[in-house]
Amino acid sequence: MENNNQIENKIFLSIKEKIKTLSTREVDEIIKVELKNHNYEDWQVDYAFERIKKMIKHESILWKIEKNKIICFQCKLEINDNPKRDLWGFRKYTCMSCNKEILYPLTNRYRNIYWLVLVSFCVIFIDALPNGRFVFPGLLIFVAVLSLIKDKKLCEKISLSN
Ligand SMILES: [Zn+2]
Repeated sequence: MENNNQIENKIFLSIKEKIKTLSTREVDEIIKVELKNHNYEDWQVDYAFERIKKMIKHESILWKIEKNKIICFQCKLEINDNPKRDLWGFRKYTCMSCNKEILYPLTNRYRNIYWLVLVSFCVIFIDALPNGRFVFPGLLIFVAVLSLIKDKKLCEKISLSN
């Protein structure tokens, strides 16, 4: 026998793809019908419904991030504002709903440039070693390393805040 959690997960998986095309109301209807079909009692429906809705909310946030939509860490609403870029290339958004300032990870272009700088430095560094020369990293190398570390942390923050 399946327990309720398993049933609810199954219902979620069955509508996971549909949330991209259906309206919230249609999705709500489907969940309720599915719960009834699985013989949920009236008093169980509310809790199960909320649980499935929570999973869907999580899923749609992931989906929006995939589609490069920007989601506020705090209130989870979508931000339609154009970003400002800080000195290192991170995008800065201000949420219109809660006014929180949000720093987003680097775009691929910036990330690739930083990696290219780092790899180029490593090649030059290793190349110079046999000749007894020691190439000191310049400021740009430090910026690249720190930016990539910061970028990684921001990426983690995004997946945690979901
Ligand atoms: Zn917000």
